[in-house]
Amino acid sequence: MSRPHRPHRPHRPHRHFAALALAGSALCLFVASPVLADSAAPSVSTFPVDGTLPHTAIPSHYAIAIRPDPKALTFTGTFAIDVDVPQATDAVVLNAAVLKVGKATLIAADGRPIPLAISQDATAQTVRLAAPGGIAPGHYRIEGRYTGQIDTQADGLFALDYTGNDGKPTRALFTQFEPGSARQFVPLFDEPSYKATFDLSVVVPQDRMAVSNMPVASEEPAGQNAAGRRLKKVTFRTTPKMASYLLFFGTGDFERLSKMTSAGVEAGIVSPRGSGEQARFALNELAGLIPYYNDYFGVNYPLPKIDNVAGPGQSEFFSAMENWGAIFTFQRDLLDDPKTTSPQSREIIETDQAHEVAHQWFGDLVTMAWWDDLWLNEGFASWMETKATDHFHPDWFATLSRVSGREAAMGLDAFRTTHPIVQHVRTVDEANQAFDAITYQKGEAVLAMLEAYAGEGIWRDGIRAYMAAHKFGNSHTADLWNAVEAAGARGLTTIATDFTTQPGIPLVRVVDEVCANGKTTLRLTQDEFTRDRVGEASVRRWQVPLLASVGGAGPVRSILANGKATLTLDGCGPVEINAGQLGYYRSLYTPAGLTDLIAALPHLAPIDQRGLVADQLELAYAGYQPLAAPLSLLASVPGDANARVAGDAVTRFEGLYDRLDGNASGQAALAARAVALWKQRLDTLGYDPRPTDTLPDANLRATLISALGHIGEPGVVAEAGRRFVALDSDAHALDGPLKQNWIGIIARNASPAEWDKLARLAQANTSTVARSDLFEQLGGPRDEALGRRALDLALTDKPGKTTSAAIIAAVAVEHSELAFDFFLAHRDAVLALVDASGRTTYVERLAAHADNDAMVAKLSAYRQTLPADAQKPVERALVRLKNRLAVKERVARETVAWLKGN
Ligand SMILES: [Zn+2]
Repeated sequence: MSRPHRPHRPHRPHRHFAALALAGSALCLFVASPVLADSAAPSVSTFPVDGTLPHTAIPSHYAIAIRPDPKALTFTGTFAIDVDVPQATDAVVLNAAVLKVGKATLIAADGRPIPLAISQDATAQTVRLAAPGGIAPGHYRIEGRYTGQIDTQADGLFALDYTGNDGKPTRALFTQFEPGSARQFVPLFDEPSYKATFDLSVVVPQDRMAVSNMPVASEEPAGQNAAGRRLKKVTFRTTPKMASYLLFFGTGDFERLSKMTSAGVEAGIVSPRGSGEQARFALNELAGLIPYYNDYFGVNYPLPKIDNVAGPGQSEFFSAMENWGAIFTFQRDLLDDPKTTSPQSREIIETDQAHEVAHQWFGDLVTMAWWDDLWLNEGFASWMETKATDHFHPDWFATLSRVSGREAAMGLDAFRTTHPIVQHVRTVDEANQAFDAITYQKGEAVLAMLEAYAGEGIWRDGIRAYMAAHKFGNSHTADLWNAVEAAGARGLTTIATDFTTQPGIPLVRVVDEVCANGKTTLRLTQDEFTRDRVGEASVRRWQVPLLASVGGAGPVRSILANGKATLTLDGCGPVEINAGQLGYYRSLYTPAGLTDLIAALPHLAPIDQRGLVADQLELAYAGYQPLAAPLSLLASVPGDANARVAGDAVTRFEGLYDRLDGNASGQAALAARAVALWKQRLDTLGYDPRPTDTLPDANLRATLISALGHIGEPGVVAEAGRRFVALDSDAHALDGPLKQNWIGIIARNASPAEWDKLARLAQANTSTVARSDLFEQLGGPRDEALGRRALDLALTDKPGKTTSAAIIAAVAVEHSELAFDFFLAHRDAVLALVDASGRTTYVERLAAHADNDAMVAKLSAYRQTLPADAQKPVERALVRLKNRLAVKERVARETVAWLKGN
């Protein structure tokens, strides 16, 4: 699964901390259900504690037939499951949620039918099928029929409404099952280790397309529905053996753009009819990925086709899902619309697909045995997405994004509320919450570090051996380490275990640095970097792989074990102990060492420039060192730096500007400094896209416009105003890749009249993505009264079901307490706007920019109302809020002092 990137929104400053965790909450509840609407808070829905379904039967094949009634938001279904019963039992237990199982029969191998008594447990999400006379060991088929419901958020079988190409309202259906929602589609063994083959058939209107994991095997007329519309029954070919969460079905008024890849697999982009060439960019990227991964993994993609299916709308939980052979992606992250697609979105079209296609092997072909090892899927796909993007687009400098990933992970990992990469998962809520920056970005960072340790070739050989050994099966984390170690990476398992089974971040301190006789001797110690326990002794120990460099010479490998190390390196000069920034640790230098690095920064590799600035600033924010030197480091990023490094630097100034909130003279001085350093780069790039732009340059232009607009640079603000006026005579005057950046500046500074104009533009827009973006921007004003209007608007029908939650979150950036109060006052209605998997962390998102004491009390009180397994995200929000409040005054004071003295 890919997490939402929200690229459509102009860049948001990090403000006070790096990462926003994404995770879910209560699962599978139909918002329409009275029980749920009542509690609206995450309700209980557990996997059986410490395990799984009782091991009563093992499925090998499913035959599922579905007949949806999209208008009524219901469906009927039948199932036939081939199972083996390993030992005598009186009942077979499967998962089922929200479904109503009407009849079930057990068919013995000799054809004898055995009627089954049905009892459903809504809390455990199971259905127990009991045979009064008992069931002897052997092979059986379970047959049954049932009814289900169609959700309106991305969970189970769900509907998304949009305006079709013909201008009429249209409804499309899709499925989203990971981690535990296939049980809302059909009764089944809904755990990743129960792999089986699937036959699916569906009844849909004659003029609609139906898509599933496999190509269509047959289509036949199926009468007509109550409205007289002609129907067809579509049957898909049998899938390979796979986990239940990977099953997919989608249907609607679609078209499909396709091409044969050089690997003999057909690639297709399925999109709303009329999308046309908007699918071309994604298709070309998709087609290239299959042969690339065939080679990397050493096992060929086993299905005859791979589709990526574009859905309108959005989710608070995910942006794309790796269903085998039929990836689902929200269309804003898949289709390339020249009117709205930003350079960042274009990049995401590539990276999201690289991520989801990597999952076709890592996750789909080889699946974690249980959710404890979710990181094996997600960390690996995140690491691979960067590697593949760098392969296909070396001029995008994708590996530089690893610094942002590391920072996002450390933003969670530095607090006591963090968790190890490998964590025990018991409930659906816990599984939803596991989709966070630790699982994704720390997973990626640790894998990148381990690949560097093993060497690229040995690492790949290990991955190939792992794939070959576990294909069509399940695996554990240790299987991967064993394979890579067997390929030649001696000692890897110890390092890998240290970083995946214990939480937290090593802090490597340079205690002293001595140059004598042309050699540098470094004395290092290892501690733990934290945000909320600075000064407390840590007992955690990691074997830390170091890459140390002196005076810009090639780095030397070593390992810091048992808490200390002494290194002697050739040469003298500035020292880096994490050269190449591939190590997952923070590096605290001596004051003299850091001064040397400030002078050396312009000459370092882009990855080191970006990584050092981030590392040193975060050490200062946490209180490990004064802020002055890291600010000088930030200011020494050269004006002609790599576009990604430049974008990061200007964004950091934007974040500092927000940290000085309430200090007008400090903000003015900070803004003046940022403009002096970075306005020239924008002038060089110009306000408008150029045909010669590289993607990073196009991205940088967008970042500079948003950041300089945010801090009030008069030229950029005036330009935004000029362009906004032009909309009066031409509704398309702002169309193009920078549309959201310009509108973001307008919205932030909007007067009531301008806000009304934006609202009218949103209402009148018929493009699904552009309309949703405009509505969301209405949540951006600094003016509190307009923030209130945006909140009220979110609870109307106007924005559309999946956009309203994003409007409220947008208000929370400038007016956190206002948005949170609104949430508390309308809790049921607001949670109904969020897909079930995203509910608990949605509240965390609302609190992400809070910076006052009142919010501490409100969040604490809210946490008390939640069940234990749903409290974690709110606890995380609380510890981070308290930390922001604790350091706020110091950071502002040191920043202002630096501005005066430098
Ligand atoms: Zn993923």
